[in-house]
Amino acid sequence: MTALLEVKNLVKHFEVSRGLVRAVDGVSFSLEKGETLGLVGESGCGKTTTGRCILQLERATSGSILFEGRELTTLDQSELRAVRRKMQVIFQDPYSSLNPRMTVGQIIAEPLAVHGIVRGSAARAARVKDLLSRVGLLPAHARRYPHEMSGGQRQRVGIARALAMEPSLIICDEPVSALDVSIQAQIINLLEDLQSEFGLTYLFIAHDLAVVRHISDRVAVMYLGKIAEMADRKTIYDNPRHPYTKALLSAVPIPDPELEMKRERIVLGGEVPSPLNPPSGCVFHPRCPIAVERCTHEIPVLRDLTPGHGAACHLAEIA
Ligand code: SF4
Repeated sequence: MTALLEVKNLVKHFEVSRGLVRAVDGVSFSLEKGETLGLVGESGCGKTTTGRCILQLERATSGSILFEGRELTTLDQSELRAVRRKMQVIFQDPYSSLNPRMTVGQIIAEPLAVHGIVRGSAARAARVKDLLSRVGLLPAHARRYPHEMSGGQRQRVGIARALAMEPSLIICDEPVSALDVSIQAQIINLLEDLQSEFGLTYLFIAHDLAVVRHISDRVAVMYLGKIAEMADRKTIYDNPRHPYTKALLSAVPIPDPELEMKRERIVLGGEVPSPLNPPSGCVFHPRCPIAVERCTHEIPVLRDLTPGHGAACHLAEIA
């Protein structure tokens, strides 16, 4: 497989009146073509900012973002315009990203016209119809307005609009978090079907490990601007080594009733500290159930325990 996206030592700091918010603090990962990487962590861990930096909606403070072999962080606005088309985003709340005064048909046709992807209104109408059917909607939905549709249908419109741009990478930013559980599964299945049909690559951002389990090939767990652990799906769920991953996983219900009875919840004390003033040493140490003195002053690096399974924890071998 070829790397479609390579993020190296990405840093995004925001200056605020009280100091520096270290939203993303040295994140590295790569994404192969056709792969799905789940990026998971609690609110404020930097996962959405990471996605926004990749999309160039935020300019990185430092680090490198290679997309299809091109360094994005040094491109100017006109060069970025062409690249952006290949990277689309699906948001948690499609309602806020869909123009309420436009019909669904107009919403999907707009990028086709603006980017000159399909010329002529008849050809665009046909493409809109095709895109609607690919996302499980009917031609008649083209005449509806976003407020006339359910949350799941609106998310399908958001997906159709993203697909209209013929992207190679889609950043799915909590795309099912606002939906009922039954609808969540339908949208995830749809994303999987579209991935195999169009060879799409996904960065799937979510706040819990349950949501990304089905769709991810690999999972990266973020905590306070850094990757705590990263591995293929099976390894993360069967053999997590970072105490934070273990705590997140302990909150995920197990389908097997017998195992579910035995599931032990690891409840972390305290709140996620502010990225304005992150803890010294391992940023997780104030909440870590197994922290030792070393953790308070020495920053653990993300290192491979086995090939492809990295954890940023001094005690990962024995944790
Ligand atoms: Fe816990 Fe220390 Fe490992 Fe951090 S480095 S996760 S504080 S044991």
